[in-house]
Amino acid sequence: MSWTEMALNGRILVVDDAMENVQILHAALQDEQEVLFALDGARALELARTQHPDLILVDAVMPDIDGYAVCQLLRAAPETRDIPVIFVTALKTPEDETRALEAGAADFITKPVNAAVVRARVRTQLTVKRQADALRALTLTDPLTGVANRRAFDERLEAEWRRCARAGLPVALILVDVDHFKAYNDHYGHQGGDACLVQVAAALRRGAGRTHDLVTRYGGEEFAILLPQLDTLGAEGVAHRLLEELAQLDLPHAASPTAPHITVSMGLCSMVPREGQGHEALFAAADALLYQAKAGGRNQYRMADDAASIAAR
Ligand code: GH3
Ligand code: MG
Ligand code: MG
Repeated sequence: MSWTEMALNGRILVVDDAMENVQILHAALQDEQEVLFALDGARALELARTQHPDLILVDAVMPDIDGYAVCQLLRAAPETRDIPVIFVTALKTPEDETRALEAGAADFITKPVNAAVVRARVRTQLTVKRQADALRALTLTDPLTGVANRRAFDERLEAEWRRCARAGLPVALILVDVDHFKAYNDHYGHQGGDACLVQVAAALRRGAGRTHDLVTRYGGEEFAILLPQLDTLGAEGVAHRLLEELAQLDLPHAASPTAPHITVSMGLCSMVPREGQGHEALFAAADALLYQAKAGGRNQYRMADDAASIAAR
């Protein structure tokens, strides 16, 4: 994305209880941004959660939930915390400005608004937001394979576990470990090993391709695949697809005692989070099952219906 492109075509949420103010801001921005609007704070919070705007312009003074409260509530929720907010307000004392900045506002525009100023401020905040997003994406990506890294896995597991606990839905996890990978490195060299991991990661990504599935490189030659809202049977279906994708790769592994090609072992399980139960139970169960798959001869998966009892063993 070029510098200019970064400042344009953002999704901007305009929040103001007066329709005429919404219209003025919409007119100022519509040629270069996508504009959504809300006429009260509650609707603004809902749109922020569901429509993922890049930036929010909010009126400071509104009935019920005012601009300051909107800003604070956005900051309090993980899914909206990183959306920058610009205050648009007729109040212009240093106290008002300080209060807005303390509530977490990124910038401040005074009414009556000037269209050129609004466009310029929006472009600046949009650019900053996109740069921050790009940096954050880097910290969540494994540089070798391009799939998500362990940090991304930890964050998503935490979030999905909470979400599924609230909704009474299962979370499934598949741990995948490449068989005899040390022998692969010894035979094909470390660079050969790297190339192999890139292909394995791509195959796993093809196999677990629903929007909410997350394939991560957990470490070394081990991958963790998070499958929100899948029960054990559903996760087993994914495991089969993963095996199919890997079989199609047909990567030779001349030094493997298990097969003449690359194979993996997997531990898979699914749990509905119980009251007060941490996600460590899910990981421990999948890990124990992976260990069983290794001990059982590799090139196979093990699963459990009652993950808690497996983990306790
Ligand atoms: P098992 O079937 O029991 O899983 O045996 P294994 O040899 O795959 O497991 P082990 O844990 O003994 O060895 C893992 C190897 O993976 C050792 C390590 O050098 C290699 N490895 C880890 N990360 C990388 C990487 O980024 N690139 C390459 N080429 N090798 C890696
Ligand atoms: Mg291994
Ligand atoms: Mg390993």
